[in-house]
Amino acid sequence: MAAKKKRVVSGMRTTGKLHLGHYHGVLTNWLKLQDDYDCYFFAADWHALTSEYQNPAIVKESTRDIFIDWLSVGIDPEKATLFIQSQIKEHAELHLLLSMITPLPWLLRNPTYKDSQVVGQGEEQATYGFLGYPVLQAADIIIYMANLVPIGVDQLPHVELTREITRRFNYLYGDTFPIPEPILTELSKVTGLDGRKMSKSYNNAIHLSDDEETLKNKVASMVTDVQRARRKDPGDPEKCNLFPLHPLYSQPEEIAEICSACPRAEIGCVDCKKILLRNLIRGLAPVHERQSYYQNHPQLLDDIIADGTEKALAITRETMLKVRAAVKLS
Ligand code: SF4
Repeated sequence: MAAKKKRVVSGMRTTGKLHLGHYHGVLTNWLKLQDDYDCYFFAADWHALTSEYQNPAIVKESTRDIFIDWLSVGIDPEKATLFIQSQIKEHAELHLLLSMITPLPWLLRNPTYKDSQVVGQGEEQATYGFLGYPVLQAADIIIYMANLVPIGVDQLPHVELTREITRRFNYLYGDTFPIPEPILTELSKVTGLDGRKMSKSYNNAIHLSDDEETLKNKVASMVTDVQRARRKDPGDPEKCNLFPLHPLYSQPEEIAEICSACPRAEIGCVDCKKILLRNLIRGLAPVHERQSYYQNHPQLLDDIIADGTEKALAITRETMLKVRAAVKLS
């Protein structure tokens, strides 16, 4: 008999269109995981509201777009269960119960919360929901009895908090949940148009849904090696903001040529950008084709979400029966 696959849970906040940072940082890992694990991938619309509570329309809009992008890059609903967090109310119930047992100092020392206070987001961001989002995250994971959580190294403190909350629940009410382990994923370096991390908040992203004209304008506006002020100045791909996109989209011989020509000023940034643009358009063409397909088949998308929701609900209902019994609420 085949061994039971380990279960993986991961979500993505629905705060806007997906960009190349999401694709190369998260989705390429999901594509590998879906082949080897029992994967549950969800659109984290409740998490999105922790920062976008004043703009809920963007959350609604991006939820559908995110599913289209997932499917368009190759996330396969036959291999992974795809659903929307807010359609599974059991996450909220478990979040509430975990809130009862989570000591406040554990949340106050969360680096994301501390950083938001340092950069002066103040009361706007210091909501009860934002402070408590790691508890919701713990509920999202353990409600599926997950074994593994794929994360980048910067998210290790969050998974550690999930593990601490889970251990505390098991200690107080008896062994109920497996303690999930992090799987550290390799993060591709994708910087934004301006050299900072690609992010919606910096408005510096290349989106998976950008059309050719938009890609052209964005690539043309990209900061390259800031030391290379003129065409005749030698450049350094290592210090160039645009160069990291070449290994993701260009051919090895093109990359080798750029690496040899750039430091000798034998290629200008305008030509280097043209090579990248051509390859980017070619690389994203199949994604764009599938995006149009799903946009033109809304019923198919609804069915995929409905199937995933049904499967996720069956598991969470079973988990909550055990949880309510453990905390003597049944
Ligand atoms: S030639 Fe290419 S790699 Fe070199 S600095 Fe310009 S954009 Fe960057």
